[in-house]
Amino acid sequence: MNKRRERQEERKRRRRKVIYFFLVLEQIIVVTILLIVIATAMLNSKYPTKGMDLETDFIFQASAAENETESRPEPETEPKTEPETEPETETEAETEAEEWRYLGEFTVTAYCPCAICCGQWAGGPTSSGAWPEEGVTAAADPDVLPAGSLIDMGDGNTRIIQDTGGGVKGNHIDIYMESHEAACQWGVQQKSVWLYVGK
Ligand SMILES: [Zn+2]
Repeated sequence: MNKRRERQEERKRRRRKVIYFFLVLEQIIVVTILLIVIATAMLNSKYPTKGMDLETDFIFQASAAENETESRPEPETEPKTEPETEPETETEAETEAEEWRYLGEFTVTAYCPCAICCGQWAGGPTSSGAWPEEGVTAAADPDVLPAGSLIDMGDGNTRIIQDTGGGVKGNHIDIYMESHEAACQWGVQQKSVWLYVGK
């Protein structure tokens, strides 16, 4: 009977020992976990590079802000120069496209200051008062092209409508030439005519 009791007591002691062992082990584990957490927290808060990173971040942000404030005026000046050059080219291209308006095909004849061509007005000034000049002076229907109109027939000459003529009506231009022969040689031609509409 005593031996049994002793065995039972020994079993109980062993169980208690096992329980104590596990309790101590649990406490050790808890303590180590706490230590690890504290250590990592200490490292995160006290590790110098972290603090430096924060400071450098602030410095970089500040310098970036300075750079922004410094570089901001530059883009203001850059667009000032760019729009000045770009719109000029654009407006030049636009005005080039709009400077000359195509009027269509015209019947183009030629005349000289002789009596055959001009009758009673031979040797005189044009109807606008300007003296005629070869390569410049042209006559037209004032309803189609009023005096002072600048026209281009694609021959490199910019002619001015300075004259009128009894037979010059509608889409008809009479260009002035010094020589009657040259005017006769010109004959009657169909030409594409552009009107200057630029300023
Ligand atoms: Zn003539």
